[in-house]
Amino acid sequence: MRDLRRSGETEAETEGEELGLVSSNANGAVVVAADVARRYGEGETAVDALRGVSVDIERGRLTAVMGPSGSGKSTLMHILAGLDKPTTGTVQVAGTEITTLGDNDLTKLRRQHIGFVFQFFNLLPMLNARENITLPLTISGEKPDDGWVDQVVADVGLGDRLAHRPSELSGGQQQRVAIARALVSRPTVLFADEPTGNLDSSTGQEILQLLRDSVDARDQTTVMVTHEPRAAAIADRVLFLADGLIVREMRGATAHDVVEAMERIDS
Ligand code: ADP
Repeated sequence: MRDLRRSGETEAETEGEELGLVSSNANGAVVVAADVARRYGEGETAVDALRGVSVDIERGRLTAVMGPSGSGKSTLMHILAGLDKPTTGTVQVAGTEITTLGDNDLTKLRRQHIGFVFQFFNLLPMLNARENITLPLTISGEKPDDGWVDQVVADVGLGDRLAHRPSELSGGQQQRVAIARALVSRPTVLFADEPTGNLDSSTGQEILQLLRDSVDARDQTTVMVTHEPRAAAIADRVLFLADGLIVREMRGATAHDVVEAMERIDS
């Protein structure tokens, strides 16, 4: 596959140990989770989806979260994005502790700081592509800055499809709309949950390149959950989850490195 890594990136990696605290780089962190645990249910049937995760998400970088099914990836992403609350532990987004915020303040913070891209696109079927893209601005009562919207539309390569509804767009085009919708409010951090999980391999590769480009060209901090090694390989940093803990991290990993790491985690 194409090597989508940044030029000059080293293959330094931290391996083997269970990482208590993953440190931030000199650019600082935009999301900081400290000792996050999440238990679903109670008593004998309780499931500990996260068992004490501490991580700093670095500004201007693409971080992938990998791990076997059931390892806690979605739970972690939802908690970092303020869509779910941890049972214990704290999460800061752009300097604000979000675990204690009320619903209104949390909604405001999410609008201002967080973009989300889903596996199944989650577009509104009755709106055309442009209306879907500007929806977050419409909801927050902002007048869209047409120049910026045009720029985002150009970046995601949607040019002549703006008047079409989702049902008239391919899966790849729908995901481009969803990415544009997430980027249009200039989020501090973009979360992508299995963004290529519902796409064929070559379309998936185009979407990954788009995410990579927005990190490189606009310093868009991005966190992507995936179980696909070729997707994780576009990241600057890969965090491996197993059984509710971060058990390893790699930087500048190839798809091959990721496959090997997963095999070792599985065994
Ligand atoms: P992943 O995204 O890595 O597949 P999840 O975060 O979805 O993992 O799930 C982690 C664990 O938590 C799994 O054992 C899963 O069954 C459990 N889990 C997830 N969501 C719920 C829920 N709403 N209620 C009960 N258990 C859940």
